[in-house]
Amino acid sequence: MNLLNKFKDPKLCLNILAQIRAEINGEFRFMEVCGTHTMAIFQSGIRTLLPEQIVHLSGPGCPVCVTHDREIAAYLALSEKDLVIATFGDLIKVPGPGGRNLKMAQAEGARIKVVYSAFDALQIALENPDDKVVFLGVGFETTAPTVAAVIRMAREQGVGNFSVLSFHKLVPPALKALATDQQITVNGLLLPGHVSTIIGLEPYLFLAQEYKMPSVIGGFEPLDILQAILIMIRQKNQGQVEVVNNYKRVVSDKGNARAMEIMYDVFVTCDALWRGLGVIPDSGLAVRKQYQDFDASVVHDQKLPQVEEIPGCKCGEVLKGLISPDRCPLYGTRCTPARPVGPCMVSTEGSCAAYYKYRL
Ligand code: SF4
Repeated sequence: MNLLNKFKDPKLCLNILAQIRAEINGEFRFMEVCGTHTMAIFQSGIRTLLPEQIVHLSGPGCPVCVTHDREIAAYLALSEKDLVIATFGDLIKVPGPGGRNLKMAQAEGARIKVVYSAFDALQIALENPDDKVVFLGVGFETTAPTVAAVIRMAREQGVGNFSVLSFHKLVPPALKALATDQQITVNGLLLPGHVSTIIGLEPYLFLAQEYKMPSVIGGFEPLDILQAILIMIRQKNQGQVEVVNNYKRVVSDKGNARAMEIMYDVFVTCDALWRGLGVIPDSGLAVRKQYQDFDASVVHDQKLPQVEEIPGCKCGEVLKGLISPDRCPLYGTRCTPARPVGPCMVSTEGSCAAYYKYRL
């Protein structure tokens, strides 16, 4: 049995499940804040195996889902200028104001190219020197360092036709916003494995120190997730709360210092607008002045437009764990993966899409 298969081993999983059942003491509400965890939990069937006292909530961990309507509107506005827009595939289907998305803009003639990375976008700029190429920057600490590295590469190579409209977001400030929100009842946080690879353990310590919130960095296999749930339950039962790195085979407590250095060389923290959570101080990444020749908000003078919210869509409440997707009146009727109304149904990591796919 290879190492990864051990983390799927049914016997080991059933053993941890038995311990969870034996130790659960009253309702326990845990939230994951990572789209990959959302899918892994649904896909593995863990939700249906857990005792009914355990409530699984999906938080604001899908980067496409937390991209605000005003940010989508800014991307749409850019697509109307004489530019080549390079974007991750998920983003082009996300509805903005009036249900309009980048795919519709593309069908109407906007030059929109789906890429796998910011590096691909830079390649388009290099191969088409007469075009101005803008990469749409969304994502968390996992993605932002690679975009920063590409901006540095563009500067080193003197590329004058490449820029980024950065709406990157940072996870710890969003966790702080969740921890302080009186509407939200959460007993434990399953912390994102990928983001933690970059930032390490230290940025989460406030969750235990200030908010007494059991918090575990977890991997994505069934055993990783079940172990994380058991640790959170034990912490709650014993009243000994700390942030645990339970994904040590991938995440170092110190994170990736080199990636952080590159990220903060190019970006500076700024207040950011999150779908459902509103403006969170210091939760975004803007391009620093030293790199402003690669900042599309400066180069193409693109501000955040004022927009109306999508009527009826409850993504904001879903992202805060206040309602499950099926409590949205549009779920499964007007809003399906084939015809999504909100971003949580668009993204492959969105909780509405996961809920629909696994028919809960
Ligand atoms: S079901 Fe659709 S409209 Fe409702 S919250 Fe989810 S994405 Fe938004």
